Amino acid sequence: MICSNITRDADGTLRFAGQSVPALAEQYGTPLYLMDEDRIRFNCRMYRQALRDSFGDAALPLYASKACAFKQMYRIMAEEGMGVDTVSCGEIHTALAAGFPAERIWFHGDGKTDADIRWAVEKRVGRFIVDNETELLALAAEAKRQGVKQKILLRVTPGIDPHTFEAVNTGTVDVKFGVAIQTGQALDFARLALEQDALELEGIHCHVGSMVFDESVFEDSAEIMLGFIAEMKEKLGFEAKVLNLGGGYGVRYTEKDKHVDIPARIAALADFIKGRCAALGIAVPMLLLEPGRSIVADAGMTVYTVSTVKHIPNCKNYVIIDGGMPDNPRWCLYRAAYTVLHAERGGGETELFTLAGRCCESGDILQPNVPLPADVRRGDIVCVCTTGAYNYSMASNYNRLGRPPVVLLRSGDSYIAVRRETAEDLCARDL
Ligand SMILES: *Cc1c(COP(=O)(O)O)cnc(C)c1O
Repeated sequence: MICSNITRDADGTLRFAGQSVPALAEQYGTPLYLMDEDRIRFNCRMYRQALRDSFGDAALPLYASKACAFKQMYRIMAEEGMGVDTVSCGEIHTALAAGFPAERIWFHGDGKTDADIRWAVEKRVGRFIVDNETELLALAAEAKRQGVKQKILLRVTPGIDPHTFEAVNTGTVDVKFGVAIQTGQALDFARLALEQDALELEGIHCHVGSMVFDESVFEDSAEIMLGFIAEMKEKLGFEAKVLNLGGGYGVRYTEKDKHVDIPARIAALADFIKGRCAALGIAVPMLLLEPGRSIVADAGMTVYTVSTVKHIPNCKNYVIIDGGMPDNPRWCLYRAAYTVLHAERGGGETELFTLAGRCCESGDILQPNVPLPADVRRGDIVCVCTTGAYNYSMASNYNRLGRPPVVLLRSGDSYIAVRRETAEDLCARDL
């Protein structure tokens, strides 16, 4: 199976986190997001332990909460001792409403508004990750007005191509995020930050992309970032305390994807960083990483009921389900690959089917050409694996469909973390 938390009984029943998927579909209805809480916690502990082993207690993983955010998720992150990354006041509000400590929140984003900045400073959000000079000056003015010394990191771009899909590549000079090191603009950005009395510059941040499988990507960006830290030390007399290398480790969506041994990668990265710091004559900075996908992706599975099966002779077969692009837009957006499984029957004769959603949109496809039992029919339960990241958080109400509930699975038990969106919910804000 694609992940160790998915198994199949001898009679064909699929299990996720040890629990029967058809039974969960029966209990909670479909479409349904399942999340394996034990796996989320396991992944958090894996990051914390790996960083602790290499850097001691100073290093911290920040969960990139845009991957999947709801109150219970922030409670889990608080309990696991994680920091969190946020990109909007909505995410920050959700975190605070769940009791997540404000000082462990990092606030990202290239388009923060004046209202965002004012509110987040009022809420005493721990750090702003400042994207550009305009934001820097707006934040400095607001912090001064509120009499706060706001801690910040600067987002810079190291000019690295992580060799992933273009839409998730964020490290090259021409992207919309951050300020480029190569052009010399990042040095001016740091100088301007140091001139602001209301701001305390702690260090620098970069995030070069997502679904990174290449061995050297983090080392390559660390090389450039540490070089920039040395340059700031020499030219500005400022020694950065914090180096945040962003998120991006890849996960397995299909059998074709490699498994990334994250603790081994972090250990190798740590050796590299320590060696470069010694060579450059700078202190080893506190390392932050921002994993999103690799914390929650393999903890998720989406469960659907088949509505229709269509055979178009000599052409194509469709399995149409009771969800679609509103609950998982990733194939539409990125041609993202997924593994699709029948929840009641494995083995036997299979055929290729295109798994399509129920929206009035021919592009509403979840995955083309997946093998499913040849006798798949209305009422069967099918599921899409590895949907924990960027599914619920990207869900929409297109075609006025309510979003599925999120059910968490914990040590053999299950509970609702986000209830199903009802027709009344959909009209609740309509006047
Ligand atoms: C999206 C994002 C992340 C998380 O990336 P993953 O691929 O989900 O690990 C981390 N940091 C920043 C700045 C991001 O934009």
